[in-house]
Amino acid sequence: MPKSTTTDAKPRAKAYVQKRGEEYMNAKQLAHFKQVLSQMKEELGQDIDRTVSAMRDETTVFADPNDRASQESELATELRNRDRERKLIKKCNEMLAKIEAEDYGFCDTCGIEIGLKRLEARPTATLCIDCKTLAEIRERQMAR
Ligand SMILES: [Zn+2]
Repeated sequence: MPKSTTTDAKPRAKAYVQKRGEEYMNAKQLAHFKQVLSQMKEELGQDIDRTVSAMRDETTVFADPNDRASQESELATELRNRDRERKLIKKCNEMLAKIEAEDYGFCDTCGIEIGLKRLEARPTATLCIDCKTLAEIRERQMAR
């Protein structure tokens, strides 16, 4: 990988500015979200790499059981984070495949447009806000 001249993170992709009368999920919008998702995936991948090497460096065995316990819970937290990140990367890949298939930006359940604003905030959203709200209510009822 080419070395960057600065250590600053790349600026986030700017929010898409929709022109009046523009068709929803036209080629330009698809290209925009492809960029957003690719960048998201890249950043997640870097986090995982960092975590792995950080853990490798920190496999010090502490004599104090308290230190050992806190090291263990730290590791458990890291592993949980990594699991979440890996799932998010998978989700990004699924979304990128949807973009390729020009099937991105529509609700999986009812098929309506998810909307640019919602996708800008959550590029991995697969449900419109109504279906998402309903799904969350159902989830809460199931958990009871
Ligand atoms: Zn829906």
